Parts: sequence; C-alpha cells; structure tokens
Amino acid sequence: VKKLLDHGYLDLVEHWGSDQRIVETARMSTNKGFLGWGPSECPECKGASVGVDLLVARTGDTSGACSKCNNTGQVPGDEKLLRYLHEHAHSTPFEFAGLTIEVKAPIMVFREWHRHRVPFGYNEMSARYVPLPDENYSPTVGRIVEGARAAGKNKQAQAATDAAVTDDDALEWLAALADVYGHAQRVYELGLKLGVPKELARLPVPVGRYSRMRATGNLRGWLGFMTLRSAPNAQWEIRQFSHAIGEVVAEMFPCTWTLFAEGRP
Ligand SMILES: Cc1cc2nc3c(=O)[nH]c(=O)nc-3n(C[C@H](O)[C@H](O)[C@H](O)COP(=O)(O)OP(=O)(O)OC[C@H]3O[C@@H](n4cnc5c(N)ncnc54)[C@H](O)[C@@H]3O)c2cc1C
Ligand SMILES: [Zn+2]
Repeated sequence: VKKLLDHGYLDLVEHWGSDQRIVETARMSTNKGFLGWGPSECPECKGASVGVDLLVARTGDTSGACSKCNNTGQVPGDEKLLRYLHEHAHSTPFEFAGLTIEVKAPIMVFREWHRHRVPFGYNEMSARYVPLPDENYSPTVGRIVEGARAAGKNKQAQAATDAAVTDDDALEWLAALADVYGHAQRVYELGLKLGVPKELARLPVPVGRYSRMRATGNLRGWLGFMTLRSAPNAQWEIRQFSHAIGEVVAEMFPCTWTLFAEGRP
C-alpha cells in the first residue's frame, strides 16, 4: 500500500499479463510467439562469424560473414519488437495486460480521474449506503505556497491575485478550511441523526472529502492516463496517484515502463 496525500493510498489489487505476453500477442501476426529477451546467439551463424570482419579486411574472403548479426554473433531479443510496437503506436498488444487498483483520494481527485472513460471500469463506495468517514484533504503549507509560485506558468493553477502567498496566508486559509470541514460534518451528522436520507444528508460533504474506489483498466489505458496525469500541467494531487501507478507498472511491466519513461521519439 502506497500512502498518498494526508489520508489517501493506492494499492494494487491484481495485475495480469506481462511484457512477455505483450510480445507474444503481437507475434500472432507472424505465428511465432515470444522468442526471448536478448541479446542471444545469432541463429544464423551460431556466433561463428565473430572475427570474420578482420579476416575479410585482411584476405578479402567474405565466406563465413553473417548479415543477420553483422558478424557480432548476437542478435537483439524481443526488447526490439516491444520497442517497435511502442514507438509506432501498435497499441493493441498492450491491451492484453492490465491492472486493478484500489484508491483512496479526495472527491476532487476522483472528479478528474473519472473523466478517463476508455478502457476503465470504476466502482466507488456509495454515500447513499454508508456515511463517508470524516476525512478531508488539507494540503500542506508548502503545497499552497509552492503551488502559488509555480502558478505563473500554468493558467489553471493561477492564484486569484498576483500577490505572493506567504506561509501565514496559507495557515490562515487552512484554519478557515478546517472550520468549513468541521461545519460541513456537523450538518452531515445532524441530517443523519434526524433521519434525513443518507443520499440527501451528504449534500454538505465537500470535494475535499476522501472517498474510496477500485479502478480497473488495461495497460494501454493506464499508459494514456499517465501521459495526461503525470504531466507537469496536471494537478499536483492527481499527479501523486499517477506516479504511484507508474511505480506499479515499473514493477510489473519493467520493459514497457522503460519505453514509456523514455517517451515516443
Ligand atoms: C491538464 C488537464 C486539464 C484539464 N482541464 C479540463 C477542464 O478544464 N475542463 C474539463 O471538462 N476537462 C478537463 N480535462 C479533462 C480532459 O478534457 C479529458 O476529459 C481527460 O483528460 C480524459 O481524457 P480522454 O478523453 O483522452 O480519456 P478517455 O475518456 O479515457 O479516452 C481515451 C481515448 O479514447 C478515445 N475516445 C474516448 N472517448 C471518445 C469519444 N467519445 N469520441 C472519440 N474518441 C474517444 C480518445 O482517443 C481518447 O483520448 C483536463 C485534463 C487535463 C489532463
Ligand atoms: Zn550471425
């Protein structure tokens, strides 16, 4: 379980497929399957062509030279095919692997997250059935001050005024936020106590309230999600979750992760 923000987490529920499965799937087109990670011995000359370059230079005799491996005796493995798939957007083989994760995050983050429709499935806890626990996101002073400083470059994060936010400003605002969270919770609980239906009693719940969900999707989808949500212009909070997905992908699909991290040329 990876802890994120002040009360959140991201946990891998299960993964399926592997880098090898992606290659094997791509080879359906040529009926070959997975051949192995490389480098491996050249199937043509079995390594016998190593040193032939020197011989050719000295004697001009080209017999024994191997064009398959350029006289290196070795051929690259299936990393090469995986790279080709990734770089040329042959994306469907990446649909044969995937992840299901469990996430606890502020509703604000879920609103951004749920915009990712394809190829994801979501199941979230329902405040119509269970009261949402009184857990709310409070950013750190550093997040607020840094966020305001970085905002100059990013319209969506821009502060409402040009004045720099001080630590004291941030603390003042955080105290006011804590007040709102407290008030909202009292109205929520009052409603539940009076018997207002849960689905209405939740009206005062703020978008800073934590909720939990499971999300499932194939690897192609997760790579697309990370492309958008690990980018510097994505909101810092969802970026933390996106980075955590990256750590899971790096562990479960290391070759794919390396290619993704390099980016498409
Ligand atoms: C930095 C940032 C700022 C944003 N700001 C805003 C904002 O101000 N307001 C706002 O409303 N949203 C905003 N969004 C959300 C954004 O518009 C997308 O809804 C979100 O990023 C999901 O992307 P998507 O549609 O590619 O994902 P998915 O829905 O998962 O789709 C994945 C891919 O499937 C294909 N696809 C899916 N549905 C269709 C379709 N109906 N027709 C054709 N092709 C389809 C497309 O190729 C798409 O890229 C923002 C996103 C980011 C990353
Ligand atoms: Zn060879």
